[in-house]
Amino acid sequence: QSKEGGFDKFILENIDELFDQSKADRYKTAFSKYSSLTPPDREKLVKHLHTALFLKKSSSTTKQIIHNRLNLDDSVICIHGIGEKTAENLERVGIFTINDALRYIPSRYIDLTEIKKIENLEFGEIATVIVIARDMKVSSRSRRTITAIFSDSTGTIRVTFFNKPWMVEKIKIGNTYTISGNIGNFGGPQITNPILRDGVHQGRIETIYPTTKGLSQRTFTKLFSGIFEKTPKLENGVLPKWIRDENKLFSIEKALKEIHEPTSVPSAYIARNRLALEELILLETALLKKRAMFKSKPGIKIKKAENNSKEFLSSLPFSPTDAQIRCVKEITDDLTSGNPMNRLLHGDVGSGKTVVGLAGIHSVISENFQSVWLAPTEVLATQTFKTAKQFLSCEVRYLSGSTKKSERQEINELLQSKTPCLLIGTHAILEDWVEIPKLAMIIVDEQHRFGVMQRARLAKKGKLPHVLVMSATPIPRTLAMTLYGDLDVSVVDEMPVGRIPVKTRVYSEVTKSVAYKKAVSEIKNGRQVFVVCPLVEESEKISAVSATEMFEKLQNTYFKEFTCSLLHGRMKGSEKNRIMDEFKSGVVNVLISTTVIEVGVDAPNATVMIIENAELFGLAQLHQLRGRVGRSSFQSYCFLLPSKLSKSLSILESTNDGLKVAEEDLKIRGPGDIGGTLQSGVPFFHSRLVTPTNLSLLPKAREIAERIVDNDPNLQDKENLKMKEEIKKRFEKRVGMVWVS
Ligand code: ADP
Ligand code: MG
Repeated sequence: QSKEGGFDKFILENIDELFDQSKADRYKTAFSKYSSLTPPDREKLVKHLHTALFLKKSSSTTKQIIHNRLNLDDSVICIHGIGEKTAENLERVGIFTINDALRYIPSRYIDLTEIKKIENLEFGEIATVIVIARDMKVSSRSRRTITAIFSDSTGTIRVTFFNKPWMVEKIKIGNTYTISGNIGNFGGPQITNPILRDGVHQGRIETIYPTTKGLSQRTFTKLFSGIFEKTPKLENGVLPKWIRDENKLFSIEKALKEIHEPTSVPSAYIARNRLALEELILLETALLKKRAMFKSKPGIKIKKAENNSKEFLSSLPFSPTDAQIRCVKEITDDLTSGNPMNRLLHGDVGSGKTVVGLAGIHSVISENFQSVWLAPTEVLATQTFKTAKQFLSCEVRYLSGSTKKSERQEINELLQSKTPCLLIGTHAILEDWVEIPKLAMIIVDEQHRFGVMQRARLAKKGKLPHVLVMSATPIPRTLAMTLYGDLDVSVVDEMPVGRIPVKTRVYSEVTKSVAYKKAVSEIKNGRQVFVVCPLVEESEKISAVSATEMFEKLQNTYFKEFTCSLLHGRMKGSEKNRIMDEFKSGVVNVLISTTVIEVGVDAPNATVMIIENAELFGLAQLHQLRGRVGRSSFQSYCFLLPSKLSKSLSILESTNDGLKVAEEDLKIRGPGDIGGTLQSGVPFFHSRLVTPTNLSLLPKAREIAERIVDNDPNLQDKENLKMKEEIKKRFEKRVGMVWVS
């Protein structure tokens, strides 16, 4: 740690002496990239080296010595019974040290304090029985399927093993086993791929970990009994004492012990929630701190922002909704405040966020500043470009990856001449050559496609410009608090008048012709149709209908008499734009596409959205797709055509409320997952620690974090120092925060 600057150099110079050629070379390659790695990746690499060095040195005696004084930073190899091979396998799930192991959260528990009799088993429950093997059949083909019959004094149970050929040797007729699993119904109780233990296991709670190849539950049992035998010294956690007292929190030591070797199942969950609360408090503190830091900085003052924006709103061909007017006011208040705006504009698809953003842009440009609008896809960028040109009277330019060199030159000159303007485009705007001397406002549309870091990178192009992030992704309040915890929030919670809610129906493989027939009759009435498929080309992995194939099929069947177009992500930007334009102009009746149309596309005459293989999409994504129709005064329809039945889709039939859909989605997918996709791959949560159930701890965590930051904005108090360190280590990068201490 102390070698920071030259550590990689030091390694590169000395590695040859430490290992054989091939291993040394591998480390050389890894360490040559050291300076560009993120801190966690550096840490991983160093830990890896540490383990390797330890292995090189260790003989059974050194192992014995180290084993007697276990530290959190020690390699797991120090643990009795964990050899080199196992250590390598543990590395693959991220476990290098004792501390990593302790933080490896189990996926579930099996309560062996409660053993059931077969006659009392209920279908659908997870249960444990103690039984004798009576019979076994092996499918002749490669022992893939094994069926065995077990019994106790009250009845028999059928057990099926798939892809577990070793069970043939393991199960001996007449022997006793303890079996746990989900009880299914096969004309009697049956279990598929249960956990099977030799002999009688009773009276304790079994902890089940996620495993990969080479790692069994036994490895973990051994690992943790080894760790707790030589109890490592555990810190009391990083939270100040008053928080621990007020919430009656377990000590970290007790919490970790309960998580891995619980005294009861409820207690294990209390322990996990304790760690989750700590994680959430740290995260919320980081976010609030970031927000406070940002707000205290001097920003560009747009003196007449409110008047400017009113001027803009009254020039529109329609009257803005009350929600739009309120959001514009909140934005212009920020613009005049003298501090930089950092605001999220949230609103369901079709609520009219674009003009709200443009009102802000108009205010800024009226006072001779420049501005940027960043869109996640070329299709959307082009569309916003057209809308902006229609409503704004200033210079509006478009920049994407496919913009020609001469045009780039021209844009650059315009920017350098400090001409008030709006530059709209895709990721290309983030490139280094784009310098914007009079940048005062940035809009990031459909934020979830951009990471926090990209947002930060864009903001660096100006001197603390005002930032407005737009999102139509409905996210539950709890999650919004976290993902956007550092932002102020405005909500467009009202649809423009005259909109009719979209009717949504799910059709099966058998009934889907109803959907297509309805589409045909809509086209005959002058309307247009979207058909969405999940993949571009036939993939071996998922047998999804490819858009290309779908296009040919539909053009030759249902839509024979009409004009169909194909749109997918592998097409060139210019081609995509041409196809979108044709569709919007009405010459094309049906647009068959992949999800490129998901975000923001506005073609009000389209009234039918058909989604093939709907079960392959997330609910929130389906809701987004549905938002492409219902943008006019005609009745619109969304037809979901799953290739196999999916219960969760029915929520879309019953509500058009994005928030309800999102809450359902959260229940199904879990916060780690959602956080992950929203933040372009940067997971906010340890997904097994923070679960949909304990995410409800968030408001409490937020409240505690507020108290901490209010009392000690810089976290300088002695009791907050450990927290500060931990936040720096774990969240600085994730929330894109540069801590000024
Ligand atoms: P989103 O919030 O999904 O980005 P848009 O800004 O694309 O929605 O707006 C959807 C459509 O509604 C656009 O065609 C836009 O011109 C129109 N629109 C926006 N505000 C109003 C309004 N107050 N009255 C009528 N139409 C509106
Ligand atoms: Mg939009």
